[in-house]
Amino acid sequence: MFNTIRNWRERRIVARHPIAESLWREALRRCTAARRLGASDQATLRILATLFLDRKSLEPTGGLELTDTDRVLLAAHACVPIIKLGMDWYDGWHSVIVYPDAFVPRRPQLDAAGVEHQSNAVMAGEAWGRGPVIVSWAEVLNSGKRPGHNVIVHEMAHKLDMLNGDANGFPPLHRRMDRRVWSQVFSNAWDRLQDDRRNGIDLPIDPYALESPAEFFAVASEQFFEEPVALRQHLPDVYRQLEQFYRQHPL
Ligand SMILES: [Zn+2]
Repeated sequence: MFNTIRNWRERRIVARHPIAESLWREALRRCTAARRLGASDQATLRILATLFLDRKSLEPTGGLELTDTDRVLLAAHACVPIIKLGMDWYDGWHSVIVYPDAFVPRRPQLDAAGVEHQSNAVMAGEAWGRGPVIVSWAEVLNSGKRPGHNVIVHEMAHKLDMLNGDANGFPPLHRRMDRRVWSQVFSNAWDRLQDDRRNGIDLPIDPYALESPAEFFAVASEQFFEEPVALRQHLPDVYRQLEQFYRQHPL
């Protein structure tokens, strides 16, 4: 097991800048995935959220203002996936840019033919390799309200996925995990869901999962923390792989 606090510097941050009890209670009230945790995991989450707020820069933009409660809530959502992994897993990037609402990224994109064009896609969130995480605050507030959705967990899953290169649905697995089993489980589930979609069957997961293997991992991670019963019921093998990866048992 890792130590939640790695060194004297972090110990000092947690001691000097603890999250006030009232803010923490409010964050727990508004974060479904955190509410489900046992007392000891909630205590770990509170330490990680404190370190997250110290280490990452939350940057509201577009006229948005974030209160202290909002910041604690965002940090709590962000740290749920790493309760059993540790803050090291979020190394290598610094900022979370928060738009008031859905946003259109202002950057050129290369299409399949290599032609550069401006994307007009409206986004709820995105994560760049070694760059910022960008989220819509409206979408953050929707987390847990739309069943199975959590935009912050989604973007954090991309960040974990990108620890070993491009986002491809294959984050760095732990030593006792089997890469072949991971691939097999995710590709079998992918094939089955594609068939279901072709046959007009309602999917048990947000169809956005079928955009790419990276999105599948991120969307399944959202459901793992927000709606674990449904994920285990419909995609039990995926659920078990995520249990091993996150080292958590949200049920
Ligand atoms: Zn995504």
